[in-house]
Amino acid sequence: MSDCIFCKIIEGQIPSTKVYENDKVVAFKDINPVTLFHVLIVPKIHIENLNNIDESNADVIAEIHLAAKKIAEENGLVAKGFRLINNCGEGAGQTVMHLHYHMISGKELGTSI
Ligand code: AMP
Ligand code: ZN
Repeated sequence: MSDCIFCKIIEGQIPSTKVYENDKVVAFKDINPVTLFHVLIVPKIHIENLNNIDESNADVIAEIHLAAKKIAEENGLVAKGFRLINNCGEGAGQTVMHLHYHMISGKELGTSI
């Protein structure tokens, strides 16, 4: 998608601070972190949001979760804990229309959603 900011990040046209990458997904630091640790995990293929997941592309969801596990291991978050958040649709606060999961961790995280 030529006008998609995350596709441009994936293609290297917009700079980002990558924390993890494999052939299916990439994770980079959120430009406007809400807490100490805030990265976005995104599939390399352009998928607008969870409404566009089906049997043909659902593998990326597993890849995102496997990436989160590795990122947690590499950043000392296994014992500390972390939260994965997906905003699906504008009504839920999705502002970038390329599927992404927020991975956040910080001392101020409470028990509520
Ligand atoms: P959402 O509101 O769930 O669509 O989240 C979009 C996220 O993308 C926000 O937390 C933004 O801070 C983040 N974001 C937007 N542009 C960039 C960028 N160029 N690099 C890193 N994160 C970005
Ligand atoms: Zn995209």
